[in-house]
Amino acid sequence: MAKPSSNYIGRLAPSPTGYLHLGHARTFWLAAERTRQAGGRLLLRFDDLDRDRCRPEFVAAARADLAWLGLQWEEPAIVQSDRLTLYRQTLAQLHALRLIFPCEHSRRDVREATGAPHEDDDEPVYPKAFRPAADAPLPPLGEVIHTNWRFRVPDDETLTFEDGNLGRQSAMSGRDFGDFLVWRRDNLPSYQLACVADDIAVGITEVVRGADLIRSTFRQLLLFRALGQTPPRFYHCDLMRDEQGRRLAKRHDALSLRAMSAQGVTPTDMIRTFTASP
Ligand code: GLU
Repeated sequence: MAKPSSNYIGRLAPSPTGYLHLGHARTFWLAAERTRQAGGRLLLRFDDLDRDRCRPEFVAAARADLAWLGLQWEEPAIVQSDRLTLYRQTLAQLHALRLIFPCEHSRRDVREATGAPHEDDDEPVYPKAFRPAADAPLPPLGEVIHTNWRFRVPDDETLTFEDGNLGRQSAMSGRDFGDFLVWRRDNLPSYQLACVADDIAVGITEVVRGADLIRSTFRQLLLFRALGQTPPRFYHCDLMRDEQGRRLAKRHDALSLRAMSAQGVTPTDMIRTFTASP
C-alpha cells in the first residue's frame, strides 16, 4: 500500500453475517477509491457484535472477496468483539454526563441493536412518555448490565450535516428518531455506540457507507458531540436495488461476489459498472 500523503483515514466496516454482495462491493470500492484519491490510510473493521448472526467463515470470506476486488487495507483489522473494554469506557463517560438512562421497556429491544439498522429495520422512535425525568436519580451501570440503556436525544433539535455525496442532510431529534440504544441488556454495546467509539479511537476522518444508515449518522453525531469530539465527514453511497426495488441484502445470493466471480465476472468488469453509476 502506498505511503500516506495526507491525514485522511477511511475504513471498510463489513458485518460478517453473510457473503458480501454487489452493493457492498460498490460501497467498499468507493471507500477505497476515496482513500486512494486523498492519499490516505484505509482500515478494515469487522462489526461482529451480533453473536447470533456473525460467523468466522464470513470474516475469512469478506477478506478474500475484498482482496479479489483489488482492495488493500492496513493490518491488523479492528475486530469489535475484542474491544468491549473501550465500549464500556465510552458508556461510562455517557453515564457520568447523565446523558443515558436505563430502560425496562422492551419493545423489540434486543432485535434492534448490535447490527447496523438498515432502512427496513431501523429502531422505532422511542416514546417520550417512557423516559424517566431528566433529574431522576441515575442508577449505577453495574458490573454486568442486565437492562437496556438509551441515549436521551434533545427534544426537537434540527441536526444537519453536509454529505460528501448527497449534499445537505437534516433531521429532527425526537421526531425522526428518538432515544436510541447504547447498551443492550445482554451486556453488549449497540452498533451506534461501538461504531462511534471506534471511529474516535482510530481517528477516522471520513465514513463512507450506504445511504440506508443516514438516520444512524444523526444519532452518531449526537454521540460525537456528547463525547466532545469532532465528527468525521460522511459520504453516503446510493443504494443498489433489485428489480423489485428492494435494497440488496445478503439473501440475494446470485449477487454475492463469489457467485458473480464463479459466473465469470471479473473485478475489472465489476468496477467498470461502479464508475458508470457513481
Ligand atoms: N457494518 C455496518 C454494515 O454492515 C457498517 C457500519 C458503518 O459503516 O458504520 O452496514
